[in-house]
Amino acid sequence: MTSRHARPPEDGEDAEPFVPGDAVADFHAHTLRSDGVLEPAELVRQAFAAGVRLFAISDHDNLAAYRELTATGAAPLPDGLELIPAVEINAVTRGLDIALPQGELHVLGIGVDPDDAAFEAALASQRGARRARFETTRARLGDLGMPIDAYLDPGTLSRDDALGRPTVARALVAAGHAASVEDAFERWLSWGKPAYVPRTGLGPLEAIRVIRAAGGLASLAHFPWAPDRISLLRTLMDDGLNGLETNHRSFDAEQRDAMANVARALGLVATGGTDYHGDLGSYAEAHAGLVMPDALVAGVRDALSRSPGAARP
Ligand SMILES: [Zn+2]
Ligand SMILES: [Zn+2]
Repeated sequence: MTSRHARPPEDGEDAEPFVPGDAVADFHAHTLRSDGVLEPAELVRQAFAAGVRLFAISDHDNLAAYRELTATGAAPLPDGLELIPAVEINAVTRGLDIALPQGELHVLGIGVDPDDAAFEAALASQRGARRARFETTRARLGDLGMPIDAYLDPGTLSRDDALGRPTVARALVAAGHAASVEDAFERWLSWGKPAYVPRTGLGPLEAIRVIRAAGGLASLAHFPWAPDRISLLRTLMDDGLNGLETNHRSFDAEQRDAMANVARALGLVATGGTDYHGDLGSYAEAHAGLVMPDALVAGVRDALSRSPGAARP
């Protein structure tokens, strides 16, 4: 399964010189504590080496990476790196009068209080829903004649937080049922495909509420349709949405501009990040595609300093 770590060079690609990125902040990234591929300490090392000084690991439904990296006795963080506790909650859109392709909205909680017991309970119930979905997907793949158990890391099944679709996709690649993680999604795991299982768990309004109650900045992640969905954004704002991911790595300049205009018009804090998982190459490659203007970074800093959780050490 080494293919997931390095993308094989395509024709002519190796002739192009690598241009390092200049983003000093990244507010969206994943580790092995959810569906990424790097250990938290290794991701921090790579992010710091790429130039990141303000970093939010935003694993799905858990703060395990933050807790490990800041635990008593943990190896010290690189000098000059600020680590922000964060999560990403993939919320199902029931209860909202909207139709979205996957029936999901992803909400980042940036700067949540890691000691908030009610928030931890909400995350625990999300993890339970995640496991249930994984088990159904696994059974579905068995029914389709593609059992994946032999291709899952032995440790994976014991960790609710690792049971996302990318984990299933990597097993499908290892089993020879897909050429890449993206291919596995396209053939089997995306909405409408044979092994797609709908998500259960928190809705977006609930996700936003628990994030705000825990002192976090609630930012709607990778939602490039925002300019055409202003009324939806206003509905989410009624329940506390206060951020918009204007600078997701996948957005081009035109999309970033359009998203920034929406954020400005509505008074939402603009956020951005690589959404690095590790399937398409190194962190440095993802970082090279990330654009984080100074004003954006300053805006997030300002929002975090005004959050109730900011007073903690
Ligand atoms: Zn997401
Ligand atoms: Zn993400």
